[in-house]
Amino acid sequence: MKNLYVNVALPVPVNKLFTYIVPDELRDDVAVGKRVIVPFGEQELTGIIVEVSTQSGWHRLKEIKDVLDQVPAFSEEMLKLTKWVADYYLASWGEVLKTALPAGTVLESRSIVRLRRQLEPEVLSNMEKSSPKKAEVLKFLISQNSPVAIKTLKNKFHFKNIYSILHSLESLGYVEIERYLPEQKAKIKFEKFVSISKSYADNSKKLTQVIEELEKTSPKQVEILLFLLARLKKGESEVLLSDLLRVTGASMQTVKKLAERGLIEIYKKEAIRKFEYEFDEPDKKFELNEYQKKALIEIKKAIDSESFKTFLLYGVTGSGKTQIYIEAIKEIIKLGKTAIVLVPEISLTPQIVNRFKKSFGDIVGVLHSRMSIGERYDSWRMIKNGVYKIVIGPRSAIFAPLDRIGLIVVDEEQESSYKQFDLPPRYNARDVAIMRGRINNAVVILGSATPSLESYYNAKLGKYHLLVLPERVDNAKLPKIEVVDMIKERKEHANKTSISTLLTQKIDERISRGEGIIIFQNRRGYSTYIECQDCGYVEMCDNCSVTLIFHKAGNHLRCHYCGFVKSVPEKCRRCGGIKLKLKGVGTQRVEDEVAQIFSSAKIIRMDLDTTMGKKSYDKIMQRFANGEADILLGTQMVAKGLDFSRVTLVGVISADIPMLIPDFRSSERTFQLLTQVAGRAGRSEKEGEVIIQTFQPDHYIFNYVVEHKTLEFYERELKIRKELNYPPFTRLILIEFKGRNEKNVELASDEFAKELRSKVHLPVQILGPAPAAIPKINQNYRYHIIMKIPKNVDKTGGEIARIIWQLKEKFEVKLNSKGVKLIIDVDPQNTV
Ligand code: ADP
Ligand code: ZN
Repeated sequence: MKNLYVNVALPVPVNKLFTYIVPDELRDDVAVGKRVIVPFGEQELTGIIVEVSTQSGWHRLKEIKDVLDQVPAFSEEMLKLTKWVADYYLASWGEVLKTALPAGTVLESRSIVRLRRQLEPEVLSNMEKSSPKKAEVLKFLISQNSPVAIKTLKNKFHFKNIYSILHSLESLGYVEIERYLPEQKAKIKFEKFVSISKSYADNSKKLTQVIEELEKTSPKQVEILLFLLARLKKGESEVLLSDLLRVTGASMQTVKKLAERGLIEIYKKEAIRKFEYEFDEPDKKFELNEYQKKALIEIKKAIDSESFKTFLLYGVTGSGKTQIYIEAIKEIIKLGKTAIVLVPEISLTPQIVNRFKKSFGDIVGVLHSRMSIGERYDSWRMIKNGVYKIVIGPRSAIFAPLDRIGLIVVDEEQESSYKQFDLPPRYNARDVAIMRGRINNAVVILGSATPSLESYYNAKLGKYHLLVLPERVDNAKLPKIEVVDMIKERKEHANKTSISTLLTQKIDERISRGEGIIIFQNRRGYSTYIECQDCGYVEMCDNCSVTLIFHKAGNHLRCHYCGFVKSVPEKCRRCGGIKLKLKGVGTQRVEDEVAQIFSSAKIIRMDLDTTMGKKSYDKIMQRFANGEADILLGTQMVAKGLDFSRVTLVGVISADIPMLIPDFRSSERTFQLLTQVAGRAGRSEKEGEVIIQTFQPDHYIFNYVVEHKTLEFYERELKIRKELNYPPFTRLILIEFKGRNEKNVELASDEFAKELRSKVHLPVQILGPAPAAIPKINQNYRYHIIMKIPKNVDKTGGEIARIIWQLKEKFEVKLNSKGVKLIIDVDPQNTV
C-alpha cells in the first residue's frame, strides 16, 4: 500500500502548510476539510486537512494523531473563500480557518511539568552556579507544590529556550513533562426524554387496562402514566425527564419501574440550545412603495439569473431597506437557496432578528458573541445540517457554513465594526461577503443610508449597481436638523451644563407630549478627563497615552484602552495643587444633568457599562419600545439602525469628538454618524427634529448634514481623497510595530522600512515609520509604516503580499528577540 499524506493548515502565524503521514488505521477517515490533531513542535494542535495525496517530497514526516470530524467541517467553497481571505489579508490559512469555526472546536494540547523527586539543597546550590536558568525553574516548581503549565513558565521567565531547559531537567530525572489534550469545549448536549411505549400509545384499550390494574398497588406510577397521556393528547409524544420528575414529584426509581415493565421508554436525545431574544414588537402590515418595488424587481432579476452581482442599496434612513432584504430572501428560499444577513452591532440584532423570525420562523439562525459556546456550536451545526437557511449575525457570520448561498446582505455596509482589527485575520466582512458572493454566483446587497466612500465610488465606476430609495416610507419626512453653537450658548445663557437651552426646551415639549427622545453622546463614563486648574496637568493612564475617564459608579478613574483603574487623586501629580476639575462629558454625566433638569423624566442609559448582561440590549430596547421611558440615552449603540416610531427628537450632545480623531476618515465617519443618529427621529407620521451641539459650528460638514445632502458631501470628500492619495483611490497597508522598549520598536521599524523600500519596485508610497497617533497602549510603544498602493498597481495584491511575507519571515527571529511584535493590517479601518 502506498503512503498517504495530508497537507494541513495550522492556526500558527506562518505562510505555509504542514505535511503529515496518515497512519494505516486512519486512512479511511481522512478527507479534505476535516479537523485533525497533529504534533507540532512540543505541542499538539488542531489543523484542517486541505489536501490529501499519495506523494510527498519530504522525509521523516510525523503522523497525524487523530481525525476529529466524520463529516468535513469545511466545504470546497469555504476552503476557497478562506484561502482568499488568508492571501488578501496576509494571514495564515490556518488562522482564517480557525476564525471560521465556532469557538471551542479548535483544540490545543497543554503541557504540564511536575517535580519527580525532592532535591538536596547542595544540588540546587551547585546548579545555581553551573546553570542558573535551570535552577530558577526548579526553584519555582518547588515553590508551587503542584504541576505547572509550560505556558505559565513561558510567561513567567521569558526564556527563549524553556523547552530545552525542561528537557534537560527531564533527562536528569528531576521533572517529568506531561502532555494532554483538553476536552472539546463545544460539546453536543444530550437530554433524557420519556414517552409511553409505542405498543401502548397506539392501543388505548390496553393502556386503560394497565392503569386500572396498577391503580391500587402503584398510584405514583399511574400518576406518571396519566401525565404522559395528557401530554400525548396535546400532541406531545415525549416529555423531558427532568420536567416529568419536577411536575409529578415522582422518584427516578418509580420512573425506572415503569420502564422495566415496558410501559414507557427513557432515551437520550440531542438537545439544541437556542439563544432567544427577549424582544418582540407587533407586526405591521403594509405594501411596498414604488421605490421599494422598483429596487426589488432589479434584485429579483439578478437572483433569478443566478450570477454574481453586487448592489449598493442607498436608501435614506427609514426608507424601508429591511423590508427589501426580507422580500429578496423570500425569493431565495423559494429557489431552495440560503442567505446571510450581516448586521454591524449586536445591539441591532434583537430588532432585526424579530422581524426576520416573523417572516421566516424556524429557519432563521443567529450567530454572535453574546451566545454561550454551546449555543453557538448548536447554531453552527443547525446551519451545517441545513435546518437554518437564513443566518443573521455580526462579521463572523460571513463564515456561516451554509450551502447554496444565493444572497448576502450587508446592512450599514460602511460600519468599521465589519473589520476585525484586534486579531488576525484582520478581514473586512463586507469585502469577504463580496468574494463569497462571487464564488457562489450569488447576489450581494450592500445597504446603507450613508455608504462608505469606497462603495459609493465603486457604484460610480459601475462595479456595483446603484439602487436608490430617496424617500421615507409612509410619506414620513426626513427630520429637521438644527445646529447649536455651544460657544455662544456658554456666553449668552451662562449655561454650564452640556444641554443647551434649545435642547432643553425641545426635550420638555416631547416629555409633555409623551413622545420618545434619543440622546447621543459618543463617550461613556462621567467625565472624560480630570484636569489641574493650577498647572493644566491632565491625569493620564499609567500604561497608555490616553486620559483617564472618571466613572461615578465606582468613584474611580478608568482607562478605556487597558482597563487600568485608580482612585481619584486628591492632589495634582505635577504641581501638588488641589483644584482638580472633572472635564469633558460622558454619558453618565449627561444622565445626571438630564435628571436634574427634568426630575420626572424616565431615562434609560445604553452604553457598554449598562449592557454587559447577556440579554441587556433586548431588555433595554423592549422597555423603550413599550414607552416605559421618555429618553434613551447612549453611545453609538443608540445612533444606528434602531427603528422606534415614537421617537420624534434626537439630541446630539457633542458632534466634536468624532471630528477631532486624527484619521483620514474622520469627516466621513462624523457625517455618517450624525446622519444615522438624526435618522432615528420622525420615522412615522409625527415629524422629527434633531438638535446637534458643537463647538465648531462653522465646520463644512454641518451644511451637508442639515440639508441631507449626502451625495454632495461624498463628491467633496472624494476630491480631497484623490488629492491626498487615500482610499478609494489607493489601497492602504498599515504595518505596526509594538513593544515595551521604545528604542527597540523604533529601530526595528526603521530597519524594516529600509528593506521594504529597497524591495518594492512598484510606484507605491511608503510613509514612516513614525510613532502612532496614540503612541503607547498597554505599556506597548507603537510605530507605524503606511503603504499607499494606487488602485491600478499590483491589482491582485500578490506581489506586495509576497514581499511582506518574505520580510516578515526574515525579521521574525530578530523581532522576537527584541520583544517587538509585527502587525499587518490590510485596508485598515483605523490608522490611529
Ligand atoms: P431603514 O432600514 O431603511 O432605515 P426600515 O427597513 O427599518 O428602514 O423600515 C422602517 C419602518 O418602516 C419599519 O418599521 C418597516 O416595517 C416599515 N416599512 C417598510 N416598508 C414600508 C412601507 N412600504 N410602508 C409602510 N411601512 C413600511
Ligand atoms: Zn490604559
